[in-house]
Amino acid sequence: MSAKRLAVIGAGTMGAGIAVVAAVAGCSVQLVDRVEVHPAAKGRIEKSLAALLVRHRLSADQSAQAMGRISWSEEVSQLAATDLVVEAVAEDFELKRQVLLALRRDFLGLVATNTSSLSVSALAAFAPDPSRFLGLHFFNPPERMVLVEVVHGAQTSEQTMTEAEAFVSQIGKQAVRAQDAPGFIVNRVARPIYLEALRLVGDGAASVELVDRLIEGLGFPLGPFRLMDLIGIDVNLAVSESVYRQLMHEPRLRPHPLQQRMVNGGALGRKSGRGFYTYA
Ligand code: NAD
Repeated sequence: MSAKRLAVIGAGTMGAGIAVVAAVAGCSVQLVDRVEVHPAAKGRIEKSLAALLVRHRLSADQSAQAMGRISWSEEVSQLAATDLVVEAVAEDFELKRQVLLALRRDFLGLVATNTSSLSVSALAAFAPDPSRFLGLHFFNPPERMVLVEVVHGAQTSEQTMTEAEAFVSQIGKQAVRAQDAPGFIVNRVARPIYLEALRLVGDGAASVELVDRLIEGLGFPLGPFRLMDLIGIDVNLAVSESVYRQLMHEPRLRPHPLQQRMVNGGALGRKSGRGFYTYA
C-alpha cells in the first residue's frame, strides 16, 4: 500500500509527532483533536519542523510544504477520505472505544491504534472492520525513533500487516512485528526499570538525579526519570496500570504511589513544565 492520505486522532505528544513524520514523507495528514488543543499542537509541530531544519534534514521549502500538508479538525465525524487512520488518544480503553465507534462503518482503509499496552484484539471489536485493524506502536519522539512495533490482533489479516509494514517503511521507519501481549515487547521489558527506579526513590535509597546519572552512565540515552518526564507521567501511569491489570496483578509490576501523586498534582513531565525535573 502506498498511503497518501492519513488521519491522526489525538494531537498530543505522539499524534503531533506522527503527523510530522508522515507529512515530511509526503502524506497529507488530517489531525483531529479538541479545538483548544490546536494552538499547542501547532506550536509543537512548528518546533519539530524547525529542529529538522537546524539538523539539515529538511530545507526551508520542504519544511513549509510539510506544514502545508497538515490540516486540522475537531471531530472524527469531520474526517475526509483517507487511506489510514492512526488513533493516538490517551491510554484509556473506553476513550479509544468511543473514538473507534465514531469512525464511519463503511470505512475501507486501515485503522491502527498507537496504544502502548491495551489489547489490540479487544479494541478491534469496535473498529469498522477488525481484519483491517492493528497496532502501530510508534516510540517517543516519533521524529527520531526509527522502530515501530506492528502489532497483530487476533483478527488482523496478513494483507493488513503487509500494507501497514509498507506504510512504515514509506515514512522512513523500520517495522518490527509484535504479538498482542500486554505492553507488546518494549513496554513489557521497560516496565520493571521504571518501577524499580520509583521504588528506589520512594524508599529514600537514591535520588532521582543519582539514578538517572548512573543509568545514563551505563550508556542509556536517558535515565528512567528523564524518560518518564518525556513520555508523560500520566501516560506512564496509565500504561503501568494496564500492564499490571492484564498480567493478573503480578506484584513486581505494581504501579508506584508516587506516579499517582504526581498526576494528581499536575506534575505530568515536560508537557506540563514540571515532573521529576522542571522545564522552562
Ligand atoms: P497525550 O495525552 O499527549 O495526547 C492525547 C491527545 O488525545 C490529547 O491531545 C487529547 O486532547 C486527545 N484526545 C482525547 N480524546 C480525544 C477525542 N475523543 N478525539 C480526538 N482527540 C482526543 O498522549 P500521548 O502521549 O500522545 O499518547 C497517546 C497514545 O500513544 C496513548 O495510547 C499512549 O499510550 C501511546 N504512546 C505514548 C508514548 C509516549 O511516550 N507518550 C509512546 C508510545 C505510545
